[in-house]
Amino acid sequence: MRAGCDASTAERLCNALKNMPDDFESLADLEGVPFSYLPSEVAGRLSNSDFCLIQRLIKSLVASSHSSSSISAPRQDGGAATSSVQQRSTKTLKEEVKNFLDAEDEFVSALKDGYYAAKSKGPRASALKKYEALAAEKGWTPGADWDVEKIQITAAFLQKSTPQSAATYLSHIKTQMPPLSREAEKEYSRAYASLERSKKAPEQDAPLTYTLLKKLDAAAETLDDLSTMKGLVLAWFLLARPDEIQHLSKTEDKGGATYSWKKSKRDQSSHGMSVKFSCCCDVTVGFKTVSCCPVHVVSVEQLQSLKRVPTDTWRNRFYKLLEKAGIENKVEGRKRALYSLYSARVGGAQAAVISLGHKTTQVLGRWKSDDCALHYENMAVVAPADDVVIKWPLKSDDIKLLSK
Ligand SMILES: [Zn+2]
Repeated sequence: MRAGCDASTAERLCNALKNMPDDFESLADLEGVPFSYLPSEVAGRLSNSDFCLIQRLIKSLVASSHSSSSISAPRQDGGAATSSVQQRSTKTLKEEVKNFLDAEDEFVSALKDGYYAAKSKGPRASALKKYEALAAEKGWTPGADWDVEKIQITAAFLQKSTPQSAATYLSHIKTQMPPLSREAEKEYSRAYASLERSKKAPEQDAPLTYTLLKKLDAAAETLDDLSTMKGLVLAWFLLARPDEIQHLSKTEDKGGATYSWKKSKRDQSSHGMSVKFSCCCDVTVGFKTVSCCPVHVVSVEQLQSLKRVPTDTWRNRFYKLLEKAGIENKVEGRKRALYSLYSARVGGAQAAVISLGHKTTQVLGRWKSDDCALHYENMAVVAPADDVVIKWPLKSDDIKLLSK
């Protein structure tokens, strides 16, 4: 027959064990309680498999426990056993506190790490580093009051060194400061608003316009150029990136062609879609190497081979073609190249919206979430006026969302 330990300890032990593995941590403070101390009435409520699991866990806990011997004496009466368990927890608790205090800073900073979402941790650390560097040069005591002058200097420094993130950085620094005076709080709000206002719009990928497509087509020479043109035109009509067409399939039908996106992780609307295009060869005349028409730009077989082109290859070939057409892709003062594979999606969307309207364009481009819609709006705002307007060769009911 099993000897018992105090019932509430045993309960906690059982509950903790039954909720494995999530509750594993709560076992830690029961470390060293041998299985034989479970009261039989508690043990009796456990299934066989619970039992085996508990037995295995307790054995491993006991093996790793440094002081399990301290409660090894079987109890004769309830009082004695209870007090021996209590003595041990007091001792363990003291040790626990001591161990914690030895590395207090580390644990506190681990806790503080959890205050921020993972994506704001990087900027937060950078902001604090900037502030520390500035404070060191200015001879400010770290953590001392943030007065009006210090706020102005900090904000001005951030505006100069990281204009895009300055407002965010300023707010990160504020979280590390003692409460501000009323005057300083007002200055902080003014500085923050000013930094927000001075933010520049993020660099956009320049749109691939119809006029640009025609220029590229005229400059195309090699077979690689030819397949790049096919990919660009198709991506343009589908408001996609050329390297996205690897997820696309085509069927030809009378007077048109239907392209289908399978449901995929890349598909932001998370369901499949099929789009039926009609021919627009009569409108988009004058292309040399390819038809600027979603129906006739690729055959079903050609699409199969385009789908095997890797992203890097698409990019290299596109950049080469821009060069051949004499289109400048590096602009001074810009960090990114002017055009990217995304340019086909941007340019397509800006051209399509004229005849399709915003709602259908967003469906065709598979923009769904608010974030994406916002991104789409930003793109549309910077739409340059192309001198050629193409009527998009589909009707809104030619787009079918496939079931999940
Ligand atoms: Zn056609």
